[in-house]
Amino acid sequence: MAFTPSATEALMYITQRPDIAFVRGEGSWLEDHRGKRYLDIVQGWAVNCLGHCPPEISHALDVQSKLLLNPSPAFYNLPSIELAQRLTRSSGLDRVFFTNSGAEANEGAIKLARKWGQLNRSGAFEIITFRDSFHGRTLATMSASGKPGWDTLFAPQVDGFPKAIINDIDSVRALIGPNTVGIMLEPVQGEAGVVPATHEFMAALRMLADEHGILLICDEVQTGMGRTGTMFAFQQSGIVPDIMTLAKGIGGGVPLGALLARESVSVFVPGDQGGTYNGNPLMTAVGVAVFDALNAPGFLDQVQARSRQLSNGLSAIADRHGMPGERGLGLLRALVLDRPDGADIVLAARDREPEGLLLNCPRPNLLRFMPALNITEAEMDLMLAQLEEIIIQVRATA
Ligand SMILES: *Cc1c(COP(=O)(O)O)cnc(C)c1O
Repeated sequence: MAFTPSATEALMYITQRPDIAFVRGEGSWLEDHRGKRYLDIVQGWAVNCLGHCPPEISHALDVQSKLLLNPSPAFYNLPSIELAQRLTRSSGLDRVFFTNSGAEANEGAIKLARKWGQLNRSGAFEIITFRDSFHGRTLATMSASGKPGWDTLFAPQVDGFPKAIINDIDSVRALIGPNTVGIMLEPVQGEAGVVPATHEFMAALRMLADEHGILLICDEVQTGMGRTGTMFAFQQSGIVPDIMTLAKGIGGGVPLGALLARESVSVFVPGDQGGTYNGNPLMTAVGVAVFDALNAPGFLDQVQARSRQLSNGLSAIADRHGMPGERGLGLLRALVLDRPDGADIVLAARDREPEGLLLNCPRPNLLRFMPALNITEAEMDLMLAQLEEIIIQVRATA
């Protein structure tokens, strides 16, 4: 069908979108309905870890869609078992429950922790989360999130998520009480503007949780699956959480998430948890293909090499333009601007001719970079050159 802006009125209005429709993607490139190409450094918000339409995913979908779509969650299917085995072996956790999104995985983590608290800590149910954190858009995960304003949007909140401050262990310790069942955090706060928890903080949280007999929950929805240069971000801190959630990269662009836990924490019994599409073979077959691509020899070395290239390139731009600098882990990075013109830069980049550049600006003075993990060295150089050209252009006309 041809794209006309008026036809979009059939969609609920939930965000401001430009009058373009994307029709095709390949690797780090997207093409809109007019045939204009864009270098995509957003990749569906760190979702398309192998870029757009990677052959591995097309092939898995093709094969599995001809074999078996949906036997029902009441029966086993082979791709879900294969993916669960890969995830448990690589993470050190013991059991997996598959979901359709990150919010659903986190919702499951909250339920699992509360159930564990009922069985092991006399009904303790509070999960300490962090200011400015983001865990999803269900009622419980919005309540767990520390996004300003979300405490009153859709009130009343789900109870039991006191907020501490990232990288401030005393702020966590001060909130621990008889009702505390766990601590949940993003190893790198993504939506907050790419704020990494330090390795020392992660290690201190692990010790604090052990000392009090409570659970450590890592929301690796954005940081997992190679995004930070290791399979999971927690591995860089030398710790293992009791519960971990995954989504985004695990499906490489299809709706898939996972909730993982240690054996002793996997306390769901029949009736506690489920879902119509959970662990369906079509999505988990894609998960297997994505997992194997990320774990191919040399893949994560390439991610680390591109990460150094991006980090060095952003630092150089920051130096040349008097900006505070860059930060992040792996290929989840941010350039901190010296003024709040991030949104102008994102717009100018998108409208750049003849080729556009897609960037993300989660805070007015900050740009976030989430390229495909297999972006080439040449594409990264192109992105850095275009970015600087756009910064100069935006500031010349401001
Ligand atoms: C994106 C995200 C979520 C929510 O995932 P959905 O698939 O959008 O529900 C949760 N936590 C983190 C850290 C995220 O980045």
